[in-house]
Amino acid sequence: MTRPLPTDTDDKIAALAPDERTAAKLRDAVPDIHLSERFAHVDTWVFDLDNTLYPADSDLWPKIDMRITLFLCELFGLDAISARALQKYYYRQHGTTLNGLMEEYNIAPERFLNFVHDIDRSSLLPNPGLARAITALPGRKLILTNGSREHALRTAEQLGLGGIFEDIFDIMAADLLPKPAQETYERFFDKHEVEPARAAMFEDIVHNLLVPHARGMVTSLIVPKQGQHDHRETWEQPSIIPDHVDFVTDDLEDFLLRITRSKLA
Ligand SMILES: [Mg+2]
Repeated sequence: MTRPLPTDTDDKIAALAPDERTAAKLRDAVPDIHLSERFAHVDTWVFDLDNTLYPADSDLWPKIDMRITLFLCELFGLDAISARALQKYYYRQHGTTLNGLMEEYNIAPERFLNFVHDIDRSSLLPNPGLARAITALPGRKLILTNGSREHALRTAEQLGLGGIFEDIFDIMAADLLPKPAQETYERFFDKHEVEPARAAMFEDIVHNLLVPHARGMVTSLIVPKQGQHDHRETWEQPSIIPDHVDFVTDDLEDFLLRITRSKLA
């Protein structure tokens, strides 16, 4: 993903046309000096989990997705196609399928979370390069996920990222209110004493970066590599990069290494 290199400051980026602004935010197009300017004050690094710490072409999410469908099949005695439609409806209307089930049927969250995250993670390859890149970042590292803590722990372990993160803020900690709700970020900031103006957020869903940006975090959107299969919903894949996204990368490991180097330079 290499695009022209039009600028090195925010002012210049703001003056560009929207498609040029997008190009200017791509990892390969961002000069070290700009990374150094934007990340110099950052000492807290916040990561989404799914499709951020592992690639969007992993079969992990499809497996969870299938377990969610299966949960709905069993709960309501539905066939797979009807359950699937209901699942997508809940996801769009309530932010997560779980929220839809809780609001409309008062389902116990633990029952749902334990069931849907009971998957085989062995297809997920350990990523020692990413482990080194995250470890090298100077400061605190936290996970902020709409999934469960258990899922985050098991997935991080499988990726070889176990023990790197100070803590995991999960959907139970969020009182079941998923990102992008403002309240959830505020709860996260309070619980972990994170000062957003000194923090950076890495995330694969573009609207989950709205509040982080508004609260002063440096925001980075993780996108699939060109040609890489993307299991996410079409509406989760932005065609144009909005202004609340500071950086875009399809290679988190390399991007983090560049950030660390720029901070040490
Ligand atoms: Mg994600």
